[in-house]
Amino acid sequence: MKLRFAFIPLFLLMISVFFVAFNSPKKVAIVDKKISWGFKRDANRSIDAVVIHSTYNANGVDSFSVQGVLEQFKSYGVASHYLIDRKGVIYRLVDERNVAFHAGASTLPDGRVNVNSTSIGIEIITTLYCQPTEEQYVSVAALVKEINSRHPLKYVKGHCDIAPGRKSDPWNFDWTKFNLLIQ
Ligand SMILES: [Zn+2]
Repeated sequence: MKLRFAFIPLFLLMISVFFVAFNSPKKVAIVDKKISWGFKRDANRSIDAVVIHSTYNANGVDSFSVQGVLEQFKSYGVASHYLIDRKGVIYRLVDERNVAFHAGASTLPDGRVNVNSTSIGIEIITTLYCQPTEEQYVSVAALVKEINSRHPLKYVKGHCDIAPGRKSDPWNFDWTKFNLLIQ
């Protein structure tokens, strides 16, 4: 009998390891690539929205060049918090505690217009003529899940949803696929 009871703590430990392993958001690999423009410091902001964008390098032979995209951002004085390259590598450009200039004149479904102040911007490198890669879908979904675990999100929207008529990104983005991946 004693031996049998000894298995109970072990069993409970196994249950809790299983629970933690399958219910915690996976650690998302992020490459720090901080930039010095396109944001303002605001340590006290609260975050409840993510805005998904797409962008590409229009000034060189490689439309998917991370460096080219960053030079464009710099020339416009804009930035997102995260940038995801074609291989799915996630670059952190701006700390989440800072307000990045990514949404411009936009309106959230609840009527808020100062979208940058309460949102995190994620840029996916793609063009009007191609799809985001599978790796990009996996990365953006993992990133959004991880953000949601720290900042419960009221909205995950495309730029075109909050600035209709003015913005058309994220281009060719499959929301059905994304919504399945974030479940
Ligand atoms: Zn955009």
